[in-house]
Amino acid sequence: MEKKEQLYEGKAKKVFKTDDPELLIVEYKDDATAFNGLKKGTIHGKGIINNQMSNRLMALLESEGIPTHFVKELSQRETLVKKVSIVPLEVIVRNIAAGSFAKHYGVEEGVVFDQPTIEFSYKNDALGDPLLNGYHALALKVATPEEIETIKRYSFRINDILKACWLSCGVTLVDFKLEFGRLSDGTIVLADEISPDTSRLWDSQTHEKLDKDRFRRDLGGVEEAYAEIMKRLEENMGG
Ligand code: ADP
Ligand code: UDP
Repeated sequence: MEKKEQLYEGKAKKVFKTDDPELLIVEYKDDATAFNGLKKGTIHGKGIINNQMSNRLMALLESEGIPTHFVKELSQRETLVKKVSIVPLEVIVRNIAAGSFAKHYGVEEGVVFDQPTIEFSYKNDALGDPLLNGYHALALKVATPEEIETIKRYSFRINDILKACWLSCGVTLVDFKLEFGRLSDGTIVLADEISPDTSRLWDSQTHEKLDKDRFRRDLGGVEEAYAEIMKRLEENMGG
């Protein structure tokens, strides 16, 4: 598959055209940002880990019946994906209070919910990704009612699958962000990435953070945490 011109460079990935109009190549970088781009840095080796982790988790989801954009891992940092038109919603599923939820509602990090929550942010960097509900999404015409229902159903199912996968790695899945897109025929599929950049992952025993919060909060041991979480997934799923 030939890598053609760059379509887009984001904060964590570059996106390239290929000779097939339905396929793209994503290339994962080591660049890290937080707080809507205010904090910038490098996490050495992150691009390789996020690429490999995202692909393994998407393959697992596919095997469980969730359609994803994943086609084929091309190299350590590059993956062939189905081109989608991204639904401009960041879909966040939470099992435990942390981050902005803990802050907004004044609850301590670590409070375990009886059932998972779901929320949407409008994917718009200039507006700072504001929170919005399903009615707002309809008013903005970012998705149809059927698409919103599909996205919610897939998201909770993805949570069940990922929670079980991480549990067998000795890791608690606290929360994560998903993005969905439409294939050219309108089918909704999971896109973007699932990685320690987009998930909160805590050691089940010690509650040690094994995700991007180590970078956001200057906790140190960032590269080590990314390597550790990847090692656990590899050991669990088979190298
Ligand atoms: P950001 O845009 O937030 O800086 P990235 O650096 O991760 O994020 O850039 C990757 C971009 O590619 C994102 O805008 C994401 O929505 C988009 N994207 C992810 N998967 C696909 C896909 N299969 N088809 C088209 N665009 C995609
Ligand atoms: N998240 C993300 N991209 C964003 C915002 C959040 O991947 O632009 C992920 C984040 O890594 C965490 C979950 O979504 O796993 C919930 O994040 P939260 O709303 O608590 O925001 P934060 O504390 O990161 O500001």
